[in-house]
Amino acid sequence: MDNAFVWDNNFVTGFDDLDQQHHVLVDLFNELNHAMLNPLGDRDGMLADVYGRLLAYTEYHFREEEDLMAQYGVDMRHVQNHRSMHQQFVQQIQTLWTQRATMSDPSATLVGFLTSWLGLHILGIDQSMARQIIAIQGGMSPSKAYEIEVKFHDNGTQALLRLIGKLYTALSAQNMQLALANQNLEDRVVLRTQELEAANARLRAVSRTDALLGIANRSHFHERLEQICALALRGERPVGVIMIDVDCFKAFNDRYGHLRGDECLQKVAKALNACLHRTSDLVARYGGEELVVLLPDTNLEGAQEVARRMVQAVAELAIPHQGSVAAEIVTVSAGVCSQIPYPGKEGDSGSAALLACADAALYRAKAQGRNQFAVG
Ligand code: GH3
Ligand code: MG
Ligand code: MG
Repeated sequence: MDNAFVWDNNFVTGFDDLDQQHHVLVDLFNELNHAMLNPLGDRDGMLADVYGRLLAYTEYHFREEEDLMAQYGVDMRHVQNHRSMHQQFVQQIQTLWTQRATMSDPSATLVGFLTSWLGLHILGIDQSMARQIIAIQGGMSPSKAYEIEVKFHDNGTQALLRLIGKLYTALSAQNMQLALANQNLEDRVVLRTQELEAANARLRAVSRTDALLGIANRSHFHERLEQICALALRGERPVGVIMIDVDCFKAFNDRYGHLRGDECLQKVAKALNACLHRTSDLVARYGGEELVVLLPDTNLEGAQEVARRMVQAVAELAIPHQGSVAAEIVTVSAGVCSQIPYPGKEGDSGSAALLACADAALYRAKAQGRNQFAVG
């Protein structure tokens, strides 16, 4: 396989330790390149492994260089420049790594960046450092060594290297901004997704709720009834249903007006809801002034008890109703039924039979004088 970085003698600084470390870095770059291009195996795992070692080794090597400069007392103007290049490199490589998923060709970008950066770094500032140390070893003062470096090595190659260095710095800054913009974009997408999910949840809640009464609507009731019947069928458990209808409500509207009629229905719904103690129980608007109660896992005795409480709770609201034949206040009639669902025709969970039974009982409660419940 091709190597991304090919060593040549221009890279030799003459300091064995440094040259050896540069060699290790080059090998790691090439290894990273191979891991990137490897179509088989755990590519992500391999990559992460090489990347981790590369970063750790780079930091080690940079420390070694900085120690060497300190040991020979290299001029601080050079040291500062050199150190800031090291810091910039580590920061840049970390940014590139976290952004690799968004790159169209992460291998080329990452390895390309690493190799050109190292090549430039060794040719330029590392060679300059090596020359200054050799001069210091020969007895020259660090500041003199630095000044000579600036004065006499400012030839074509050095000028070119400095220009490339500037170009690299500009590109780095650009890269950083792009990475930041990417991150901001991702954050915004996450936020939008959360908002959308919340809006969907609100929409689902609205589509299940009756707008006037603020309780479940008929379609939600049917959905729950089917679920509960299917469960009860399997577990052979009873399901209770209570059909409730406001007595003489047409007359209420006629006498007190439709608005008062709406308010009355709201109070009735609230009172019925307050009679439920289990979270699995549900009161829903079945249509008009008719409401329905679903009582999972409730036998006839239990369902009757709830119906009794409900009839009483509405009467206790004591809403005047002069037009009623049942009482002088608003009352309801209720039909109670509890059954272990038995499936009828194919696909029938037994829910239809339950509803028919409760409906027939309601009819009886009306016939027997209203303001009461009857059992189906
Ligand atoms: P019964 O005791 O036999 O149930 O008599 P009823 O008058 O209550 O029965 P009927 O079905 O004849 O009339 C129901 C009335 O309920 C008619 C309709 O205008 C009224 N109603 C249905 N929904 C609403 C509503 O949302 N708001 C108001 N104000 N009235 C409603
Ligand atoms: Mg009615
Ligand atoms: Mg009715």
